[in-house]
Amino acid sequence: MNGPSAGVALEVYRRGPVWAAFLGAVPQGGAAGPEDALEVLAGRVPAAAAAAPAWLRQRHGAAALRAPGPGPTGDGDALIVSASGVAATVFVADCVPVLIAAGDSVAAVHAGWRGLAKGVLASAVRELNGDSSGDGAPAEAWIGPAIGPCCYEVGEDVAVQVESRSGAEVVTRRPGRKPRLDLPLAASRQLAGLGVGQVSTVERCVRCSPDWWSYRRDGARAGRNYGFIWRD
Ligand SMILES: [Zn+2]
Repeated sequence: MNGPSAGVALEVYRRGPVWAAFLGAVPQGGAAGPEDALEVLAGRVPAAAAAAPAWLRQRHGAAALRAPGPGPTGDGDALIVSASGVAATVFVADCVPVLIAAGDSVAAVHAGWRGLAKGVLASAVRELNGDSSGDGAPAEAWIGPAIGPCCYEVGEDVAVQVESRSGAEVVTRRPGRKPRLDLPLAASRQLAGLGVGQVSTVERCVRCSPDWWSYRRDGARAGRNYGFIWRD
């Protein structure tokens, strides 16, 4: 029942000055918020010790905000950071954490079915593109562990809303059963459609993997998985 006690699941990527990391289930009490979680990360990725997190009060919407500095920034689901040493942070427990680097800016996006239906990734990319005059490094994105299609049956109304923005392949329909929705694939398709050339997906269902929190598995006792992206 309990999260792992020994290690903490971790996926880390580095592209030049950009670091992107997904941190799995820290045992209850071990990470009470973004600052604690970043400290846990810094215990494994020393470069993270030089970064401070910025985060949003996540709303399952599509608003993109810019972080003026570290700390809580406001209400929204896509956080853009241009300063180096400030980690755009997202926290999830089934929803898809998406990290994007473009030019000199980075973004952390909270993309559940509602955000994916409302266009939160489009908001994030639009805001990021406002930063670069077109000659920066091409955008790259990382899609973190989230609930997989194996474990995500939804109502037809939900399936249709995400499908209409992402393409038919994100929904599997079977006679007599609820549709299965593939949220990470929906995020990937949307990013490709928005011109993000390179998209990597961590292929791991959080409900199937006890190293990561899942709201559908753990309910109210679920902690949060974290995504961080920052520039040195
Ligand atoms: Zn699963």
